[in-house]
Amino acid sequence: MSHDLINPATGAVFTSVQHVDAAAVDDAVRRAQAAQRRWARVAPAERAAALRAFAASVDAHIGELAALEVTNAGHPVSAAEWEAGHVRDVLQFYAGSPERLAGKQIPVASGLDVTFHEPLGVVGVITPWNFPMPIAVWGFAPALAAGNAVLIKPAEWTPLTTLRLGELAAESGLDPDLLQVLPGAGAVVGERLITHPGVAKIVFTGSTVTGKHVLATAAAQVKRVTLELGGKSANIVFDDCDLEQAAATAPYGVFDNAGQDCCARSRILVQRNVYDRFMELLEPAVAGVTVGDPASRDTEMGPLVSRPHWEKVASYVPDDAPVAFRGTAPTGDGFWFPPTVLTPNRTDRSVTEEIFGPVVTVLPFDDEADAIALANDTAYGLSGSIWTENLSRGLRVSRAVEAGNLSVNSHSSVRYTTPFGGFKQSGLGRELGPDAPLAFTETKNVFIAVKEM
Ligand code: ADP
Repeated sequence: MSHDLINPATGAVFTSVQHVDAAAVDDAVRRAQAAQRRWARVAPAERAAALRAFAASVDAHIGELAALEVTNAGHPVSAAEWEAGHVRDVLQFYAGSPERLAGKQIPVASGLDVTFHEPLGVVGVITPWNFPMPIAVWGFAPALAAGNAVLIKPAEWTPLTTLRLGELAAESGLDPDLLQVLPGAGAVVGERLITHPGVAKIVFTGSTVTGKHVLATAAAQVKRVTLELGGKSANIVFDDCDLEQAAATAPYGVFDNAGQDCCARSRILVQRNVYDRFMELLEPAVAGVTVGDPASRDTEMGPLVSRPHWEKVASYVPDDAPVAFRGTAPTGDGFWFPPTVLTPNRTDRSVTEEIFGPVVTVLPFDDEADAIALANDTAYGLSGSIWTENLSRGLRVSRAVEAGNLSVNSHSSVRYTTPFGGFKQSGLGRELGPDAPLAFTETKNVFIAVKEM
């Protein structure tokens, strides 16, 4: 079945992709199993070299990959180039893993006891539309490094860069059956990956609703899962911080990728005694966000990904919404939405639900305890920022906020060298960091009895 793809900046169909069906998934699993058995026997240094060759192939196609993401997902070209470069960097990072994935030798009275990190087999990676390239590589690079085969199902709206990465892997010399891209519907291809007994693990990134379904379905086979789900992260601004910097960077913290970011700091919490001043500083910062043609190098924020998603985001800003101020956005065709700042009450659905668009709420708080309680008053727990010049407070609040990735005086969330993942309903397990390949292995213990002479 052919599926139309729409350029979010124009609203027009620009190409279509062929969706695969459940039978094609079954066939892909069979080929992946055979490829994985061969790959697991490849010497660690050779596996490392294969991943480096794949990284080099990505490096040679940064511009092409970025251009695809500009058209398919509406990402600003500078961001899309960063994302393609990130794929190369993550591949290079995990190319160091095959030769370092060492087990342990455990002391015993007589004999030898050792652990091995055995690959799981075939891994299914189901990705969302917001960051197609980074989220795909966070799954496939450590999984391949640990000796697995990978089947990736990209989101229906944004499959093009993932399909191209699959081709680049094969062009770089990787067995094409080792990394297969399966474009298709979640309910068909995604569902078959979760239910197929030959798929040992699912790495799913997407909405919490679908994530719960993945977890429940995978439970039937005790299938391993890693889940990266929604977020409603706080950006906590204390009165002792560099207020100018906190206000100047807050738009980036939430409007990057048009707010379609599970790490978006979509709730700004500001200490009451600096609230008015912060809002005075935030208004020009929001007005200064350059929203427009994603192909332009000046653009900081592009359109939303699709019409249905635009409608969902717009539902959080009805005519009587408490809008403090807005930035600008193009009018006309395309799924444009201006950066929008709301000042609702604490129980409004714009404060409690993930919007996944360029809409931020600002709430005042009284003291540190109030800030922590507000930050934690959510089912999510992915990331967050704390602005303070008092580093004791910065560390204390970081430890108290129930989230997986916090930053003090920064909005940094994702570095491939550090673990990434959520508390509570933001997810299960961690991606990235040096230990990520371990999540694609089973630990096996072998005891060898030694006969006494
Ligand atoms: P969104 O609502 O933002 O599109 P989803 O969580 O539904 O997010 O989608 C994330 C990924 O999960 C997409 O690749 C989608 O096709 C896939 N997906 C959706 N439904 C299912 C399902 N029942 N089983 C497996 N994957 C699914």
